[in-house]
Amino acid sequence: MMMHEPMSAAGPPQGANSAPSGGSAAATAASVGVHSHFSGLRGALAEQKSLAKYTSWRTGGCGDTVYLPADRDDLAGFLRQLPPGEPLTALGLGSNTLVRDGGVRGTVVILHDPGAALAIADGLVYVDAGVACPKLARFAALHACAEAEFLAGVPGTVGGALAMNAGCYGGETWRYVARVEVLQRDGRFVVRTPSDYAIGYRSVRRHDGAPADGLFTAAWFRFPPGNIASARARIKELLARRIATQPLGVPNAGSVFRNPDGDHAARLIESCGLKGHAIGGASVSEMHANFIVNPAGLASAADIEALIVHVRSTVRDKTGIDLEPEVRIIGERV
Ligand SMILES: Cc1cc2nc3c(=O)[nH]c(=O)nc-3n(C[C@H](O)[C@H](O)[C@H](O)COP(=O)(O)OP(=O)(O)OC[C@H]3O[C@@H](n4cnc5c(N)ncnc54)[C@H](O)[C@@H]3O)c2cc1C
Repeated sequence: MMMHEPMSAAGPPQGANSAPSGGSAAATAASVGVHSHFSGLRGALAEQKSLAKYTSWRTGGCGDTVYLPADRDDLAGFLRQLPPGEPLTALGLGSNTLVRDGGVRGTVVILHDPGAALAIADGLVYVDAGVACPKLARFAALHACAEAEFLAGVPGTVGGALAMNAGCYGGETWRYVARVEVLQRDGRFVVRTPSDYAIGYRSVRRHDGAPADGLFTAAWFRFPPGNIASARARIKELLARRIATQPLGVPNAGSVFRNPDGDHAARLIESCGLKGHAIGGASVSEMHANFIVNPAGLASAADIEALIVHVRSTVRDKTGIDLEPEVRIIGERV
């Protein structure tokens, strides 16, 4: 593991394709007063802020304290001032997360950053973790990289893809990682390589089994050389496949359950007659049985969680297979 000190020693390479972003300056000035013990912040800080719009299910409660950092150094400054015992939760684009209706205690940092940097550096693709995966896929294609196309349909951030080892259509995030930058809870950056982690299907942990600690703030990817036209054609083909098979027009969080060994969660759920089954405003998608949708935007997180529990127990009773949720459920029930 390489240690970076001072903290800005890593960060975007010169000439990286970035724009000012994160918390807006206007929001900053107004909201920093919320927590008088923070100083020098450039992001947006709020208390009791609804997290519904920060999740793809578009439901859920508030974060006690919610911070949208202006950039990686601002995030580091924020963490250094955070009281040591304060619970800290990261959200990227919230496309794999259910926030319970009672909200999240402690501090939530929102790490999606539409203006974050992408660059080619020493033959690697450098990307800030706040970049959305489809943007990384398009950038890689434009720079004649192959095999990044699978990321075009993953509607999360690069940080979320690193945390989840997101994958599809034969691709998996960590297969292409050369190194990552991690911001530790104490506000210091370290650089790690894949050998620092035990990486599996939708799972990234430390070798002792503990969850990966710290926040991913950047990654360097090594994609094989390809060509622009075929990468673009592959992106188009994969997106068309998704449009044909997934309920993308309504709030959802992708596959709710992990695929069990040698089978598909969607096949099992469908075989139990659960397509269309509804609890409150949430229902099992008619289009893809491993998706739970919030079609009218009226589902509470409790509806969705109750449906997850119902699907799991029905499949277990009828098939003997215990489906394990892939989505992460955070926060308190009401
Ligand atoms: C329509 C649809 C299709 C999908 N298809 C796929 C697919 O094909 N394959 C697939 O794998 N997933 C898929 N997903 C699920 C989801 O997009 C991925 O899991 C994605 O990687 C989550 O990224 P996110 O930024 O939204 O993470 P979030 O939901 O915000 O967070 C997920 C987890 O990552 C952690 N996290 C987020 N950012 C960071 C960070 N910077 N550092 C450390 N931890 C962090 C969070 O704390 C949380 O535990 C799909 C979702 C949708 C809605």
